[in-house]
Amino acid sequence: MRTKISLDTIRGEFVNQVETISGQDLLACNQCGKCSAGCPVAFSMDLLPNQVIRFAQLGIQEVLQSQTIWTCASCLTCVARCPKAIDLPRLMEALRILSLEKDGSQMNSEALLPELLEELPQLAIIGGFRKLSR
Ligand code: SF4
Ligand code: SF4
Repeated sequence: MRTKISLDTIRGEFVNQVETISGQDLLACNQCGKCSAGCPVAFSMDLLPNQVIRFAQLGIQEVLQSQTIWTCASCLTCVARCPKAIDLPRLMEALRILSLEKDGSQMNSEALLPELLEELPQLAIIGGFRKLSR
């Protein structure tokens, strides 16, 4: 049986979101596997880095439940090895952001009370917004 996959079906909303946040062209990846072969923490991942990008290419949102997006150490080894110049750490960051958004883990600046803003350490506020907003 033949299955016809067109760019329209692949480039759904999820793929567009991931590409917009990460700034990466997902479909440029040809699944050569060099990223996974050189990743120093691949042994502890439930999906290898090339599998993560494959799931993302196909718009499979279950990738947001993968531990790999949190295990990636952003060491840039895969960036140096990728023949397509894909920045996988940026892709992992985009998936973390989407995962947190899906969980409802978002910071709302308007919900922060002025008294809290005076008391909370500024670094904590900035760090929170960095992780929990976009
Ligand atoms: S090294 Fe680059 S092109 Fe090869 S599988 Fe990894 S992300 Fe894709
Ligand atoms: S940046 Fe992440 S995926 Fe890439 S080699 Fe390092 S730990 Fe592995």
